[in-house]
Amino acid sequence: MTKIDKILSYLDELFPNAECALNFENPYELLVAVILSAQCTDKRVNIVTKDLFSLADSPEKMLALGQDKLKEIIHPCGFFNTKSKAIIETSQDLIYRFNGQVPSTLEELTTLKGVGRKTANVVIANAFNGQTIAVDTHVHRVSKRLGLTTENSTPLKCEMDLLIVVPEDKRSKFHHQLILFGRNVCKAIKPKCDECQLKNICKFYKFANTNKNFKNYDKKGK
Ligand code: SF4
Repeated sequence: MTKIDKILSYLDELFPNAECALNFENPYELLVAVILSAQCTDKRVNIVTKDLFSLADSPEKMLALGQDKLKEIIHPCGFFNTKSKAIIETSQDLIYRFNGQVPSTLEELTTLKGVGRKTANVVIANAFNGQTIAVDTHVHRVSKRLGLTTENSTPLKCEMDLLIVVPEDKRSKFHHQLILFGRNVCKAIKPKCDECQLKNICKFYKFANTNKNFKNYDKKGK
């Protein structure tokens, strides 16, 4: 069994039903939810978007709602000034350049104000069933630890490396599984290595057992 097969099989065992934890009914709602999820839990975002989307589930309705009211509603998500500005600017952009519709390609999505590569990949995977891998902090850390990318890789290099080894039909699920694995097992601080069945193929585990400065491992490539 190859290394990636072992990892995929273990992740399937641990998280067979991994999927997007954000609630949404259309691509625009997902885009807004992903913007709100920066530095905020998915659970809190879902509570906030329940109210928000009942008032504004399209770019047109969001602009009609206005930034002040938007700020008030999304306040619990934190960074409400930055996030409300990003949502309003993205909504304007969608209306003026994409006829109010969220585009489905990475090239188009990343031209929207406030939409980076990670957000675009999440939208493509979950709203358009695309097989992409969005690299967030968990995906990046765990990939480096397992040696799926180099220790000093950037998020973009990590994405490229993962696209090479992860079979296309498994990429979207793998992204969600790696996030759950990073949150619950391979945590940033005190990973649960003793109970992890990947330790015999894990670079970080070997490194941490032989190197006093193992805490610097995760910092490379940031
Ligand atoms: S052995 Fe430890 S560091 Fe390696 S993947 Fe498992 S939990 Fe993460």
